[in-house]
Amino acid sequence: MVVDVLVVGQGICGTFLAWNLENAGLSYKVIDAPLPNTASKSAAGIINPVTGRRIVKTWMIDEILPFARQQYTLLGAQLGISCIRETDIIDFFTSPQMRLSFLKRHGEDPTFLFKPEDESGWLSHFKYDFGYGVIQPCLQVELANILATFRRGLEHKQQLISGKFDFQKLVIEGNTVSYDDIHASSIVFCDGNEGAVNPFFKALPFAPNKGEALIVHIPELPAGHIYKKGLNLAPMGENLFWAGSTYEWDFKNSHPSEAFRNNTLQLLENWLRGPVELVDHIASIRPATLERRPFAGFHPVHTCVGILNGMGSKGCSLAPYFAMQLVQQITGQGNIDREADIQRFRNLLFRP
Ligand SMILES: Cc1cc2nc3c(=O)[nH]c(=O)nc-3n(C[C@H](O)[C@H](O)[C@H](O)COP(=O)(O)OP(=O)(O)OC[C@H]3O[C@@H](n4cnc5c(N)ncnc54)[C@H](O)[C@@H]3O)c2cc1C
Repeated sequence: MVVDVLVVGQGICGTFLAWNLENAGLSYKVIDAPLPNTASKSAAGIINPVTGRRIVKTWMIDEILPFARQQYTLLGAQLGISCIRETDIIDFFTSPQMRLSFLKRHGEDPTFLFKPEDESGWLSHFKYDFGYGVIQPCLQVELANILATFRRGLEHKQQLISGKFDFQKLVIEGNTVSYDDIHASSIVFCDGNEGAVNPFFKALPFAPNKGEALIVHIPELPAGHIYKKGLNLAPMGENLFWAGSTYEWDFKNSHPSEAFRNNTLQLLENWLRGPVELVDHIASIRPATLERRPFAGFHPVHTCVGILNGMGSKGCSLAPYFAMQLVQQITGQGNIDREADIQRFRNLLFRP
């Protein structure tokens, strides 16, 4: 069988890559190991336009937010599902300093920030001492639904090989690759955290970090917002909320930890007025990078071997944009932004 591109991995990167290939009229197969706790299956799906203690705009957000909104809407229309919803973040200040920070930033540039006149509006649901601001608009992506529906479509079209990719079986012949009976013009690895041990790309400066979250049932909390006070509380439907997360660079394993569970339940008890019931506890590794920029493009030596990875904590917003750029590069219609193109590491990748 001959295809244009072999895609390894069907997280949010592999999904958007495959979808863009399809829209560009290119043929492809996806190989994906159906693991339960991948980053995309653990994420809350939040696209937050601001970041950090100084509440500055997220990298490239002016381009990336409207693009993501449009792409998820189109994808949803094609899949016949809801992929995204517009929302806001009720940002409860954790200290007087955080309140000042928000007000200062609001004074400098109010884009994405709203300061309510009356800050007592959430007192029947939450305990808070320093007021709140609102971050808007934000997006929340329905990752579980997207991944599962897209996967079913791939299965239906016989474009999915479910299982682990075996590097021993990959043969690179000049400008083409073969894997079992599949011959392709290129192969693109969207293997998430496994990228850090991928024989072609392990030299790239990955900086994986672990994140955990609880799934909790909160019967009385309105589901129309994301709430934040140190941790995020994001609605997942049916009165379920995703509560997280942590960023751990020095971790021993990817398992859920008792310390996180106890600490988060305590935080929720101190914050919420109503009852909270623990439903699940998840943990995963984010495929983050040292300089917090994605890895997209083709290997300088093995020019038919590509990568779309390194999305860190921003996969929902960055994957659609850089999947589009990678496919434009494949079809000769555009280039990848220099900050994301792995050509910036060509010296590292040239080393044997
Ligand atoms: C707790 C947590 C919360 C997060 N919250 C958010 C959020 O709210 N918003 C946001 O934008 N981002 C969030 N992120 C980050 C986001 O999840 C990642 O940026 C994104 O999911 C990465 O997607 P990916 O496709 O690169 O990798 P993955 O989702 O890990 O997908 C990789 C896929 O490749 C497959 N695979 C790997 N190796 C092989 C192989 N050898 N053979 C076959 N298949 C293979 C895996 O099974 C998997 O399906 C969060 C991450 C975590 C851990």
